[in-house]
Amino acid sequence: MPEDVVSSELRKQHLIDPEICIRCNTCEATCPVGAVTHDDNNYVVDAEKCNFCLDCIAPCPTGSIDNWRVVRAAWSIEDQLGWNELPAQENIAGDTSQLSGDAVEDEIEALLATAHAGAGGKVGPPASAAKPAVNLFRRAKPAIAVVQGNYRITAADTESDVRHIVLGFGDTPFPVLEGQSIGIVPPGTRADGKPHDVRLYSIASARDGEKRSANNLALTVKRVPGGVGSNYVCDLKIGDKVQVTGPFGATFLMPNAHDANVIMICTGTGSAPFRAFTEQRRRTGQNVTGKFVLFFGARTPQELPYFGPLQKVPDSLLEKHLVFSRVPGSDKEYVQDRIRREAVDMGTLLQSPKTHIFICGLKGMEAGVDEALADVCRKHRLDWTALKPDMRAQGRFHVETY
Ligand code: FAD
Repeated sequence: MPEDVVSSELRKQHLIDPEICIRCNTCEATCPVGAVTHDDNNYVVDAEKCNFCLDCIAPCPTGSIDNWRVVRAAWSIEDQLGWNELPAQENIAGDTSQLSGDAVEDEIEALLATAHAGAGGKVGPPASAAKPAVNLFRRAKPAIAVVQGNYRITAADTESDVRHIVLGFGDTPFPVLEGQSIGIVPPGTRADGKPHDVRLYSIASARDGEKRSANNLALTVKRVPGGVGSNYVCDLKIGDKVQVTGPFGATFLMPNAHDANVIMICTGTGSAPFRAFTEQRRRTGQNVTGKFVLFFGARTPQELPYFGPLQKVPDSLLEKHLVFSRVPGSDKEYVQDRIRREAVDMGTLLQSPKTHIFICGLKGMEAGVDEALADVCRKHRLDWTALKPDMRAQGRFHVETY
């Protein structure tokens, strides 16, 4: 079966977001098979000609080209030329009783609301983010994924057991964007006999898979002593089958625009979505002008997930600030300390309307980071108490902590 056909009935379709596209003609000029065409209204992709070579993705300055839907029947050119916005992802799981509309299961909605509360108010997605599919699979009818990998990504002699887990979805379409999460349903029941709650885990791979077009994704999961979900996931073996719900999350999403500056601040498994952002930029960001900056804190290098692979990410792709709080013989340093040390560059970035801030990790990191950003602002005669709500209102300030 070809890679673009995700099951015998369903296919992936490449679309252009008419709300973000600036009609610059770059995609039409780049496409080697003549699949992109336009009229006075829209630029569109001919599903019968597009061969998923992805040559058009990197040159597009806005990211509007990087939109995908799983469909039963492809949208025609005529359909697309008439659009003012992209259609929502159709219900592809075929369980209409469970999948109607945009309603999200209450338990997931509550988890996400709590995780995003640190932003201080309602946040929209970045203006140039692709449109996510959400809530395609629910507890009553989960997707079944098969474990393709389970690797420890912290040093074996440390207490912190963090794992890189790869899940394959086979023929089942499971479209995701960087920044979204999936739900894992731990098997078995609680002491009261009820099923375990779904646990959320951020996707740590780019939208087209841990391996490109392989219909798989990666997670970064930390084993929590006594924890039901994390121990279940961390103990998974290759070939095990896992019940997955989601995808979830429609706001904490990577901006697609080439000129977006992205500041990522994390600790521990909060790095998962930023690995996804970085992989996506590695694959599509050949023409980017925006800065990509990571502040990543851990106790020691041995306990910092992906420490080895991160060393190999070129500085031209990602400006890395890896900071440690428990290295013998060295001063303690937390992410907020490094943000203050980088006040000159950070201040310049904060003054740009193209800058997005993403904070992810443990709840405990929020206050310190907030104070550091306020200090940086003071040094540049900016008022963080005014700038933060502005950035939030423009979909440029995002927090996901748990
Ligand atoms: P739980 O079973 O829920 O237990 C939590 C804690 O309570 C443990 O310390 C446990 O020992 C204690 N506990 C449980 N039962 C009892 C009891 N009866 N008495 C006393 N103590 C008890 N995690 C990641 O690792 N990676 C991610 O990428 C990630 N992304 C997330 C994204 C979002 C949006 C959210 C909301 C959460 C995310 N999480 C992530 C956290 C994850 O969802 C789980 O909360 C985490 O794995 C712990 O779940 P658990 O089932 O292992 O622990």
